[in-house]
Formats: sequence, structure tokens, C-alpha cells
Amino acid sequence: MTGAATEIARLIRPDLRGRSPYGAPQLDVPVRLNTNENSYPVPEAIVRAVLAALEDDVRNLNRYPDRDFTDLREALTTYLEKQSGVTVMPEQVWAGNGSNEVLSHLVQAFGGHGRTALGFTPSYSMHPIITETLGTAWADGLRESGTFELTAEKAAEQARAHHPSIVFLCSPNNPTGTALPFEVIGAVLEAAPDAVVVVDEAYAEFARPGTRSALTLLPGNPRLVVTRTMSKAFAFAGGRLGYLVAAPELVDALRLVRLPYHLSTPTQTIARVALEHADLLLATVEAIKGERDRIVDGLAGMGLTPVPSDSNFVLFGGLTDAQATWHALLEAGVLVRDVGIAHHLRVTAGTPQETSAFLEAMARLAGTHRQENT
Ligand code: PMP
Repeated sequence: MTGAATEIARLIRPDLRGRSPYGAPQLDVPVRLNTNENSYPVPEAIVRAVLAALEDDVRNLNRYPDRDFTDLREALTTYLEKQSGVTVMPEQVWAGNGSNEVLSHLVQAFGGHGRTALGFTPSYSMHPIITETLGTAWADGLRESGTFELTAEKAAEQARAHHPSIVFLCSPNNPTGTALPFEVIGAVLEAAPDAVVVVDEAYAEFARPGTRSALTLLPGNPRLVVTRTMSKAFAFAGGRLGYLVAAPELVDALRLVRLPYHLSTPTQTIARVALEHADLLLATVEAIKGERDRIVDGLAGMGLTPVPSDSNFVLFGGLTDAQATWHALLEAGVLVRDVGIAHHLRVTAGTPQETSAFLEAMARLAGTHRQENT
């Protein structure tokens, strides 16, 4: 270690010493299917609408943005009503720079020293990272042994055991892809009476028909929070806009922890204009779902074990050595994600060409990389 590195290691909070930051590789390869982005670029009509709307914004950048992002909240309620059929008031909506920021606001407001957040591994890796870096203890809940499933009984049992202040559920779940059984949410609300229950629905728009959103449970449940993002279905990961829906009183509490003017004027405008064109931006969702299903069928046909998906990605198992397959795919120009689950990799559904490139590369590798007897 250099002198400066030793000095920083001495000064940093002891619980952060030796930790690694979140870091999915951002490599410049032809086919990037590792961060569950939407592969389709923003349509030209929206590019022009955004640029026109930004012109006025730039002129007024001498002023702070609207602290309460009033127009954006309205736009989000209109979208949510159309997408889910649930009526939401603007005062029930909170937004941040990606749903990661919204999640951090929740932990800042409802976690803290001496408190615990519970999640069910494997799930979104940022839930424990946000929790622990904000000084809240993390309890790693378990799924049914040998599977990625979470039943209402198993979830409730652990919610009772850990007395959490926050419970993270993720539906559809990243990295497994499958939506939770709906009854898990109600069971956890009942079993953890002192917890805010967060249902991370980052991938809701990709769910298979009949999958119910936790938004439908909001009336009468003031401790329930549903988080969503424009990073996935909306093809807006670079715009950094995530949001949540909850009781107005809970949303009001988040104003205590956000930094003043946390959503820049351009962020608010870009997201609002994108929402005005929601139909056009979401036009790729059905195509992506088709590619996802093609991945599931293709991998199963190769003797691998894909997990059923309600998302824009597929987790698949049956590999002898996931890291070796990850490297071999990279050599073939295809970047996927090693999520740290033995014998498994995760791949995002891309354009038909990208999906074909992945499936063709995987078909070439399957014979030598497949675990026998799976
Ligand atoms: N939740 C889940 C389950 C995710 O997979 C992601 C992104 N990978 C996020 C939240 C955060 O996304 P963003 O900050 O871009 O909204």
C-alpha cells in the first residue's frame, strides 16, 4: 500500500475498511448483456422533444430546480394509472436519481443505528450495500433450501425472527428473474409489524400476464412502499430516474433525509418528457419479452437450466464453472453477468441480433461447459 492508501485505510469508517464498491464491468464489447439495460436507443421523436424542452431549462439554470418535482410527480401518476390501473395521488410519489437513491432515502429515514433490514438472498445486491453503508444492520433471509423460491411461510418466519425495521422484497426478483408469490407481501406485512416493507418492482413492466403489482395493496397499508425505475423498460438508464409510491405520510418523511434540490432541472424535464411519450418508449417491451422467452427455450434446448423469468433477463444454471463460461462468452464478444451463484450466469434479453449472438456463442460452448447430470 502507498503512504496515502495506508492513511485513508486508517481514517475510513472501520466498517467500510476492505469493502469493494458495486461494479458491474463496463467493457466495450459488441454485445453487452450484463446490466439489464434496454438495448434499444431512445427514438428520434423523443430525442427532439427532450432537446426542445431542455432549451428553456438551460437558460434558467441560474435557478435551483423545483424541490418538489411537481410536474414530474403528476406525470408519474398518469403513467402508473395507465400501466397498472391503480390510481395514485402526486403526494404518494417520491423520485430520485435512479431507484438506488430512492432506496437509500428509505434506509436513511427508516433504518439507522441499532436497526435491521431484512432481505432474501439471492436478490438485488444493492439492498445490503445501501443498508450497511448507511449504518443499518443487514439480516440475510433464506429462500427454500436448494431453490430460489420464497414462500409466504418462510418469509414470515424470518420476518418474525429478525424484528426488522425494513424488509426488502424484490418482484420480479433480480437476479433470479421470477416474480414473488403475491401472498408473500401480505404475510411479511403481518409478520413484521414494526417494519416498512419495500417491494422493489424495477422490472414490473416485463412481468408475465397475470402478475399482480404490489401497487394494488397500497390502500390501507401505510407501511408498504413500491419502488420502480425508468432504467429498464423505459430505456432510460442514463437519465437516472427512479421513484416510489407509498402513503403520503411516508413520502413526507423522506423529505427529512433528501439533499436539497436532489433532482436537477434537466433530470426532471427529461423524465417528464419521456413519460409523455411512454407508449413509444415502452414499445420495445413486448419484443424484449419475446427475446427473453427465446433465451429460456434456447438454453433449455442446450441442456442448461434457465429459471422462469418475469424480467428482461434470464438466470441459467447447469454450467461446470460459471467463471470459465463468462470468460469464454467474453472472448466471443458477449458480456453477461456472473452474479456469484455457483454454476449460474445471468444474461439480459437484447435485440434479436444480440440475443442470437449470445445463443449461438452459448450453443458452441454448451457441450464442453455443461455440468453433467443436470
Ligand atoms: N432494483 C433492482 C432490482 C435493480 O435490478 C436495479 C438495477 N439493476 C435497481 C433497483 C436500480 O436501478 P436504478 O438505480 O437504475 O433505478
